[in-house]
Amino acid sequence: MKRFYWSFFLMFLLVGCTSESLPKTQENRHTPDRAAKIRVLSTISMINELVKPIGGEYIEASTLIPSELDPHSYQLVKGDDEKLRSAQIIFSNGLELEHGPSLKQYLQKSAKAVPLGNKIFEQHPDLILNEKGQLDPHIWMDISLWAKTIPFIVEKLAEADPLHADFFHEQGIILQKNLLAAHDAIHSQLMQIPSSQRFLVTSHDAFNYFTKAYLAEDSERTSGTWRHRFAAPEGLAPDSQLSVADIQYVISHLKKYQIHVLFPESNVSKDSIRKIVYAGKENGLNLQIAQVSLYGDSMGPPGSDGDSYLKMIQHNARTIANYLQSSQPSVPLTIGEACYAP
Ligand SMILES: [Zn+2]
Repeated sequence: MKRFYWSFFLMFLLVGCTSESLPKTQENRHTPDRAAKIRVLSTISMINELVKPIGGEYIEASTLIPSELDPHSYQLVKGDDEKLRSAQIIFSNGLELEHGPSLKQYLQKSAKAVPLGNKIFEQHPDLILNEKGQLDPHIWMDISLWAKTIPFIVEKLAEADPLHADFFHEQGIILQKNLLAAHDAIHSQLMQIPSSQRFLVTSHDAFNYFTKAYLAEDSERTSGTWRHRFAAPEGLAPDSQLSVADIQYVISHLKKYQIHVLFPESNVSKDSIRKIVYAGKENGLNLQIAQVSLYGDSMGPPGSDGDSYLKMIQHNARTIANYLQSSQPSVPLTIGEACYAP
């Protein structure tokens, strides 16, 4: 009798194990061998977010620069060499985003590197903004512009794995549709804000494309006057070095357009906007630092409301809309609060 129970128990265990491992076995049958997958490395997570759905199960996708770090100044660290060497394709943003000397040098020399922003610039030079002689690399901030990188990703993957070229192409079309739908939704959402309140001030010059796409009128895009809707104390790459002229420029901009709120960015020090709040107070301005940071140069950490490319831009749109729709700061900060806020 005891023996019968043991046999039954063993059988139960066996059935349990088999049924649990079954899906994996089936999955393994259809999933391409790891060695057959194209190894694709993206410099920033926003690129990886496009690469993953296009390549699907036929690629092994990874990102080089951790989200919490500044991609402008990122330098290669231990282990990066191996990632770069083993990748078959390296997608970078280009347009001088990755200008940390060691990474820049590697990308310039590597035949595997595909600078997506430069590809767009070659085809549509008019779409890439020029800020005081420098090309603005923050092209992910306009979803419709970011979607223009898709054909280059599809082309490169198809070249590496011609057998699945049709799949990459179809996935690219689906992704493009989804992105353009999100672009239109964000545009409609932000156009609800009265024109006189549609002004944005952030830590560094990361939001030119966003402003042009989502805060400006059509006529302003044509005439170039959309630029008066955006200002930032720090330039295209955040460096926390503010001159008196930088501060004066932002203060006079805030005064001129009666702007009351400044938006910090998740991976940029708040020092520069705190300095502006100080200087504003001396000039009789009652300024507020938004308590919610925008995602500028990177997505949010896993589990946050910015942990995917679209969620990142949607978070920005929602935060900007919430603050701009109340023309006066709801909780004005004192100088002390502004300076010691985390
Ligand atoms: Zn930036």
